[in-house]
Amino acid sequence: MTKPAANGYEETISHSGHRLTPQRREVYDVLLAERDHPTATELFIRAKKRMPAISLATVYNCLETLVDCGLAKQVNVDREATRYCPNLEDHGHFICERCGKVTDVPTAKKGRSEKSWHLPEEFIVTHAEFTLRGLCPDCNT
Ligand SMILES: [Zn+2]
Ligand SMILES: [Zn+2]
Repeated sequence: MTKPAANGYEETISHSGHRLTPQRREVYDVLLAERDHPTATELFIRAKKRMPAISLATVYNCLETLVDCGLAKQVNVDREATRYCPNLEDHGHFICERCGKVTDVPTAKKGRSEKSWHLPEEFIVTHAEFTLRGLCPDCNT
C-alpha cells in the first residue's frame, strides 16, 4: 500500500535537487502523522520510536531540507523552539495562551488580506503570516 503523500514528496524532493534518504522520508512521515506543530525535539522523540538509530542532528538536518523544498514551514511562537508545520495551504495559527496548543486557521479568500492592512501600493507582499491568540475550546470552559 502506498502512502498518500508519497508521490508529492518524491517529486518535490527530487526537483529541489535533494536526495531522498530514508531518514528524510521518515522525518516527513512523522511530521505528517500528527498535525500538532511539534518542535524538532518532539519530532526526534517520535522518530526514534521508528528509527532508534536516528540522532537529533539528523532530525534537524532533515527538517532543514524539508523547509528548503517547501514541504514544511517553520512556525515561531515567541521565543520558544521553532515548530514545524506540514500544512502547505495558506493558513495562520491560533495559539492557546493556556495550554500552548497551536491550531491551523485557514485564511480568507486570496487578495483580501492585503486590503485589510491598508498596504501602500509600492509594497509587494510575497509572504503573509498571521497569529491569533486566545483560548482553545478545551481551555475555554
Ligand atoms: Zn488550550
Ligand atoms: Zn500550521
